Amino acid sequence: MDHVLGLKCVLCGAEYGVDEVLYVCPKHGDEGILDVLYDYDLVAARLTKEGLATNHDYSIWRYAPLLPIADDIPRPPLQIGWTPLYHTQRLGERLGLRYLYLKDDGRNPTASFKDRASAVGVVKAQELGYGTITCASTGNAASSLAGLAASVGLQSIIFVPERVPRAKVAQLLIFGAQVIMVKGTYDQAFDLCLEAAKEYGWYSRNTAYNPYLSEGKKTAALEICEQLGWQAPDRIFVSVGDGCIIGGLWKGLRDLQALGFIERMPRLVGVQAEGAGPLVQAWEEGTEEMVPLVPDTLADSIAVGQPRDRVKALRAVRETAGRYVAVEDEEILEAMRLLGREAAVFAEPAGAAGFAGLSKLVREGEIGPEERIVVLVTGNGLKDVDSAIHAVGQPEIIEPSMAALRRLP
Ligand SMILES: *Cc1c(COP(=O)(O)O)cnc(C)c1O
Repeated sequence: MDHVLGLKCVLCGAEYGVDEVLYVCPKHGDEGILDVLYDYDLVAARLTKEGLATNHDYSIWRYAPLLPIADDIPRPPLQIGWTPLYHTQRLGERLGLRYLYLKDDGRNPTASFKDRASAVGVVKAQELGYGTITCASTGNAASSLAGLAASVGLQSIIFVPERVPRAKVAQLLIFGAQVIMVKGTYDQAFDLCLEAAKEYGWYSRNTAYNPYLSEGKKTAALEICEQLGWQAPDRIFVSVGDGCIIGGLWKGLRDLQALGFIERMPRLVGVQAEGAGPLVQAWEEGTEEMVPLVPDTLADSIAVGQPRDRVKALRAVRETAGRYVAVEDEEILEAMRLLGREAAVFAEPAGAAGFAGLSKLVREGEIGPEERIVVLVTGNGLKDVDSAIHAVGQPEIIEPSMAALRRLP
């Protein structure tokens, strides 16, 4: 771990050694999110484009010299990351874009982007000697943590709000997690989980609290640039709830710039649901403060009223000259249909929201036809079959006869 210099508070800039604090800046309580600092000279000696070109570890661990983990801790045996980046020409033509790429993170072992963070979380839990790891989640962080914990033999205790799609709860139970379903919102489950972790001494995989999780999330940005031959795209679209993914992508891109792997910074576009868009509002108003709201959207994975990683999430967009955009649930359902029909990628609502945001900006004339655009699809559609059926309707049912078949419209 000699390549990790320490941890820096995003609010006050105070720096700490990795052995000094476990989660957040002591001066700011749960708000003081810490960012991991690296010795880029050391990293550059260990991670080169040439080395990567001959590295056959096609997972997030190919970037281990740029991750805050020690060499001697066992890594989960599952395949995390290095998800496909498709040049989706037919879908691109629909929007009038030549270079549209989809990165399908629904292809991770528990079928969402969250596996990138959970993988790092369980490595840290083992390094620090914990036997139990916990998180609160709208679903995917939970099922992801449960799966990754099971893969290395850790106990997981998961807090979920009542309104979680059944498939995600099924995953938790299949992976052997202890599930605590909270009568309330995600935000309430989050606060309860933090308190419980303190009281019982569990390791907390809570996003925007544990500083190491963003480091796992940044691997998607590293992969995108490597998969595009180190030609960074013009824009990256991603759905945003707590803001950790977008903050993580920004971190990965800054790492690559610091190492001289990419020359230009892509513009990051954060997409929120109209009924859960506090970051859109804060971005429009030019502030970092926001009023918590009660989220209302069918995209459960981004139904967040009080984004925990708001500071990084806003800076990621402002400092890359990107933007936030809000989409209606109806636009998300349309995005699910288009992704399925034109690119054969099945996304859950939050997984399709990034694409819905792109479609909207295309309609508004903000995107040039030659721009190189990457859209992150963050979760698989099988996670929330009810929403998928809601998007496409039920099939016709007929008697088993040719006559009945011929009568179909
Ligand atoms: C968690 C999640 C998001 C949002 O990520 P944040 O870090 O909370 O902004 C988007 N899509 C899916 C499928 C998710 O599970």
